[in-house]
Amino acid sequence: MEKLIEFLNDNRIPYANKNASEFTTFRIGGPCTAVYPGSERELINTVNECLSLGIRYTVLGCGSNVLFSDSGYDGAVILTQSLNSVRVEGKTVYACCGAPLHTVCRAAYNAGLSGAEFAYGIPGSVGGAVFMNAGAYGGEMKDIVRSVTAFSPDTGRIAVLSAEECNFGYRHSIFEDNGFIILSAVMELTPDDKEVIKAKMDDLIERRKSKQPLNYPSAGSTFKRYPGRYTGQMIEEAGLKGYTVGGAAVSEKHAGFVINKGGATAGDVLTLVDHIKKVIKEREGIEIECEIRVID
Ligand SMILES: Cc1cc2nc3c(=O)[nH]c(=O)nc-3n(C[C@H](O)[C@H](O)[C@H](O)COP(=O)(O)OP(=O)(O)OC[C@H]3O[C@@H](n4cnc5c(N)ncnc54)[C@H](O)[C@@H]3O)c2cc1C
Repeated sequence: MEKLIEFLNDNRIPYANKNASEFTTFRIGGPCTAVYPGSERELINTVNECLSLGIRYTVLGCGSNVLFSDSGYDGAVILTQSLNSVRVEGKTVYACCGAPLHTVCRAAYNAGLSGAEFAYGIPGSVGGAVFMNAGAYGGEMKDIVRSVTAFSPDTGRIAVLSAEECNFGYRHSIFEDNGFIILSAVMELTPDDKEVIKAKMDDLIERRKSKQPLNYPSAGSTFKRYPGRYTGQMIEEAGLKGYTVGGAAVSEKHAGFVINKGGATAGDVLTLVDHIKKVIKEREGIEIECEIRVID
């Protein structure tokens, strides 16, 4: 790690010793070295340096879909938040990987473009949303992404993948399999009346506020939807609303969310997740799958 710090200092790439709880929406996780590249080149150089030094790394956007271990991360957590530019040309939106989805949605609204409204209120970045094909209220990233530019740490090359090549599925993309780092995405939207776009965005935010436990830290829906079933409903029917392990609890407001009620550890969350899975397996005979990515 000393060698990486030397590299970061030599190249004036910002970094800090942080607890993962400081940059994740779950507010959970121990110490790590957080790196903040200011350009695609710095991001790629940091990854290459980690590879040549044999240091583990993970690339994060807004940290809204991850659970870090209590003991922290023995490697570099590369945060893309400074790579956040968004540009609109005609019906096309060009966004860097660290751009928050709300910035993309606002830029689309300002340009009178419809299609991204579903993403308004998802507290993630473009990179994180492409990575897991984020979606809500009937829309998904795959509906609007035309291409993705990504860096392959294996070949050292930058590639442009068409939407088809991204192999999007339900909360899945090829980037979960190939280890590429998403640098930017191009999205194609449709012109529409700004008032109509705004009304849709406002409606979706209101629906989130009324249904989701936004006053507690969480990483969103804890589990993926089981085909044809709402996982939150199954958890509620199992009587698990409010079920608590340490500081982690099944939200009383929405059983699909595990929340940090205060001082939750990753261990609390994982024990609770295992308990929920076990109960659902016993009641329904099915295995539900975690949507949150555990990083340890
Ligand atoms: C209150 C709340 C509500 C939510 N609602 C929704 C919802 O409605 N729909 C939904 O789909 N999700 C939802 N989420 C989950 C989350 O916001 C989304 O999954 C979001 O897309 C994650 O983006 P992120 O930037 O935070 O990713 P992070 O949590 O930072 O990372 C998630 C994964 O993506 C990878 N990744 C991130 N950036 C890159 C990159 N540039 N290149 C390669 N890999 C990368 C990371 O390595 C990690 O494995 C919600 C979360 C919260 C807390």
